[in-house]
Amino acid sequence: MLNYSLDAEGIATVEFDYPDKSQNILNAKSMGAYADAMQKALADPAVKGIVVASAKKDFIAGGDLAELGAATDAAAFHASISAWHKLMRAIELGGKPVAAALNGTTLGGGMEVALGCHYRVAADSPKARFGFPEVTLGLLPGAGGTQRLPRLAGMMAAAPLLMEGKRIKAAEAQKIGMIHAVVKVGDERTAARAWVLDAIASGAKPLQPWDSKGFKIPGGGPSTPGGMQMLMAANAMLREKTCDNYPAPKHILSCVYEGLSTNIDTGLAIEARYFTNLVMSPVSKNMIRSLFFGMQEANKLASRPAGVPPQKYAKIGMLGAGMMGAGIAMSTATAGIAIVLLDTTQEAADKGKDYARKQWSKQVAKGRMTAEAMEGLLARIHPTADYADLKGCELVIEAVFEKREIKADVTKKTEAVIAEDSIFASNTSTLPITGLAEASARPANFIGLHFFSPAEKMPLVEIIVGKQTSDATLARSMDYVRAIGKTPIVVNDSRGFYTSRVFGTYVSEGMALLEEGVPPALIDKAGLIAGMPVGPLALADEVSIELVHKIAQQTKADLGAAYVERAADRVAAKMVAELGRLGRKSGAGFYDYPADGPKHLWSGLAGQFPPRVDADGTAALSLDEIVERLILVQSVETVRCLEEKVLRAPIDADVGAILGWGYPPFRGGPIGWLHTLGAAQAVARLDRLAEHYGPRFAAPKLLRDMAARGERFYP
Ligand code: NAD
Repeated sequence: MLNYSLDAEGIATVEFDYPDKSQNILNAKSMGAYADAMQKALADPAVKGIVVASAKKDFIAGGDLAELGAATDAAAFHASISAWHKLMRAIELGGKPVAAALNGTTLGGGMEVALGCHYRVAADSPKARFGFPEVTLGLLPGAGGTQRLPRLAGMMAAAPLLMEGKRIKAAEAQKIGMIHAVVKVGDERTAARAWVLDAIASGAKPLQPWDSKGFKIPGGGPSTPGGMQMLMAANAMLREKTCDNYPAPKHILSCVYEGLSTNIDTGLAIEARYFTNLVMSPVSKNMIRSLFFGMQEANKLASRPAGVPPQKYAKIGMLGAGMMGAGIAMSTATAGIAIVLLDTTQEAADKGKDYARKQWSKQVAKGRMTAEAMEGLLARIHPTADYADLKGCELVIEAVFEKREIKADVTKKTEAVIAEDSIFASNTSTLPITGLAEASARPANFIGLHFFSPAEKMPLVEIIVGKQTSDATLARSMDYVRAIGKTPIVVNDSRGFYTSRVFGTYVSEGMALLEEGVPPALIDKAGLIAGMPVGPLALADEVSIELVHKIAQQTKADLGAAYVERAADRVAAKMVAELGRLGRKSGAGFYDYPADGPKHLWSGLAGQFPPRVDADGTAALSLDEIVERLILVQSVETVRCLEEKVLRAPIDADVGAILGWGYPPFRGGPIGWLHTLGAAQAVARLDRLAEHYGPRFAAPKLLRDMAARGERFYP
């Protein structure tokens, strides 16, 4: 856990060395060991100074999220964090110089251990990052980070690190005063030791700046004019950005304001309370579960069928060099895989490659990529109109027009060229995979790989398993998704699969609200307040109201008498067929898109969908009711997906929603939110909504049974 040694000159080295892990992490065990080692060094008269170091390639990656996620006893947690503060203060005031040798990445609790030393020297490693990622998981730097960093760097420089979790390189950390020196890789311990020896020789008591006489906060404290201005602006920006859904950045701001208005010890006591509050909050539990553990499981391919040897890819085929095809080609080339980009003509294929060049050129212009690197990537993309070029592809993905016949045609032409065991994948967004596989001579090798737009950027791939798709095809497809650095979720075939189906309910609920007479500005604002990245009407414009209309017509044709018309279908039909307002692409949808200014809601909407207001002029529906509908309509559809076994596990739903359509992480995901409410409470709310607004809110049996048995979705 920790190596302790004492040399001839009285310098103790306390070295973090977490057993059986590639990284050092801070948890009750390692913190306990650190406390023992430091107390021993402080108490031993033979020890004159201390160097804190790491035996791994990085210093300390952060805290143990499993431990934080599982903490439920607030009093016990608060006591343990207060004891940690006491230790750090004992080190700071112990009279012996303590230097941290940061050999690599130093994040979260690791950075706090370092800030609790008198001196910090970092190795100049290009990969090393320094900072506090806690806020991104609903937490705050709770071992003194909110107090020590702004006292070192000033509130302004500390804000992006603490409140946004920004990670910086050693040179920048030195510039803002977070570390004292940057040295050549490998020299950091020598440099730390040299500083300790100098400090011993000086005979002066080593003190942190805040314990020194006449200490002033760099740039001024909270009650200076500059400080007040900064805090006011930060507070306003935060509310605008988060609609108060995320307690962590708010608590961090409070820690900075309240803590810096007093002395360090009171500041630490203030931080301990806010930290305990966050650790106990459902928000941090939700974010840790979905964003950390869920994502980790998905990326480790936890659900990959066993017994299939891992597949490495050298050559991939891409049919259709349009928006999706070009983006998928970019992701594939970036992963070092050669890609044949095929379209109906050489010209069309070239256009896809040109798109890649254009996107990468922007990176080159920003200095994020060299021109040679770009040429190297482009060399991997082979544009063509000749199917013979697909020979040797281990996997071919089609992203041609969304037409069954065209997809069937390219499937046949491709299978005539590729090997028997090659995989054929469709990037369809709406057509069931099992149906498309009918065109294939090898349906066991046929699968859905549903990318999101823009494909070169979006991190999720929804893998759709058709009735005949084999386990080997699934496993090998998952290997490809990981090879290009994306996160896979696996779902079974169904109309709209999982993501489009549930995401669609959010858009259609917004349209239903419009038909009911809720003012459109309120609907879209409610979406943002619910935590969604874009309001439902604005989103309908983006994906195009025409598409909503087309999908409704297609579904109607497919289902016949079983089809139940929805409010959204009527609204879409009116907008598209009657008013010719197709969405953003036609320059007119729920919004107008003037060439010379920002978009704004179409002034004619009120005439088409008259707002219903109460006698006092306020909207007939409360904001809370609208938010609840926009959120629960997604949750209830997700439970149906679980019930129908479209989804294989709740965590897939949550990871897929957050990565796929920006579902608010503070709720954990559509299932995470039901877990937060509890099944019984969720059923009660759905019953009420179903009574008022119809059976789309009816609680599925799965949820009712869980409520009756007192079960939860997650431990
Ligand atoms: P697009 O119109 O931009 O591109 C389609 C490309 O396919 C065009 O370049 C076209 O020339 C080419 N093509 C048409 N017929 C062909 C054929 N027979 N052989 C070879 N190439 C042919 O469309 P897109 O937005 O890239 O969508 C493509 C597919 O991806 C569709 O199935 C769509 O449903 C799906 N998809 C789209 C999105 C999205 O947001 N756009 C998201 C996920 C999935």
